[in-house]
Amino acid sequence: MTLSWRASCRGCGGAPEDFLSLGEQPLANRLRKAGESVDVARYSLTLCRCTSCDLVQLREVVDPAMMFADYLYVPSTSSTMVAHFDALAGEAVTRLGLGSDSLVIDVGSNDGLLLSRFRERGVRVSGIEPAENLAARANASGIPTTCAFLDVSVARELASQGKASLVCATNVFAHVDDIRGFMRAAFELLDDHGVFLVEVQSWADTVATLAFDMTYHEHLTYYATSPLARVCREEGLVLLDVDRVTTHGGSLRAWIGRPGHRLNRPERVAERVALESPFVGPSASARFAKGAHGVRDQLRALLAAIRNDGGRVAAYGAPAKATVLLNFCDLGPTDVAYVVDRNEAKQGHWIPGAEIPIVGPSRLAADPPTHLLLLAWNLADEIMAEQASLRRAGGAFILPVPVPRIV
Ligand SMILES: [Zn+2]
Repeated sequence: MTLSWRASCRGCGGAPEDFLSLGEQPLANRLRKAGESVDVARYSLTLCRCTSCDLVQLREVVDPAMMFADYLYVPSTSSTMVAHFDALAGEAVTRLGLGSDSLVIDVGSNDGLLLSRFRERGVRVSGIEPAENLAARANASGIPTTCAFLDVSVARELASQGKASLVCATNVFAHVDDIRGFMRAAFELLDDHGVFLVEVQSWADTVATLAFDMTYHEHLTYYATSPLARVCREEGLVLLDVDRVTTHGGSLRAWIGRPGHRLNRPERVAERVALESPFVGPSASARFAKGAHGVRDQLRALLAAIRNDGGRVAAYGAPAKATVLLNFCDLGPTDVAYVVDRNEAKQGHWIPGAEIPIVGPSRLAADPPTHLLLLAWNLADEIMAEQASLRRAGGAFILPVPVPRIV
């Protein structure tokens, strides 16, 4: 199976309605390698919203084995993400009172970055990671990691070696098709007072910043607090508390537990639901769809104007959202000469569909552009500080969303 179509809501079983098609898109993280055909596989990308619980989700489901077997996203290459995970580990240790007899399990543990921050604080750790290259890297650095997708049978086997006080799923819960099965599996791993900590991209922030490029085949579900609380209730669980954090353009940090848990703060959950309400629901979805088409028109016009003035545009960052933005806006190597990324595993590849080469940062000095389009716009401050010499040489940066603009 490479593609299936979702007829009912992943959260409540209700009926979703389509509101935005981003067209036929390549798999966003499947960068084209040298020697591979430029005619990459494309799959339609359609956003819909459940008319019962407002959960936003994708219609089409690409087989996860096609997306995650050899995964190139490694947050350890971003100093912003390293600091974020360090702060998360510190907060979780304090709030849950974790110590040397506690076990923390990270699902989608990547190269072990978050778990290394718990281990530094004297807590026992264990990872679950489906990408073989990343699981191997984590094991080599001393973070015990099982190479698997989490499901109830994997969870029962791991739980037989001892239950966890905390199960984390950061930037992974949105990737899951069977979200309720995943939640059940996480609670198989947890002891009676255990907490399931989820960090997901916040749909309210995605709408507020018009970050339509954050929607791609890997992200099947787009959470706001109210639909997330509903999913928990459907499973007999409680959304205990929720914070907004700044990663990935705005994310929710959700603390989920069994009823009666001491961390339950319903007033904070209600406050977050109220703050998000202008960005959740049918009119917000319609506004979002209209805005995405506006960004496409304006960015194309801006790049054409720069080219007509004799300028030359390069881009910074080859995250998944770069593939989505470039393909949705129908941009290619004539519009953007090359894309710089610090992750050496991505260099020497091409953005699929757009056919723009990915190169190392040294290219910027050797072949300087007049404008640098920040495709990794969530890390704009970090990138603009690192590339301050571009501005000193008379160049400028371009932010693509919510309104394409030169900064
Ligand atoms: Zn629903």
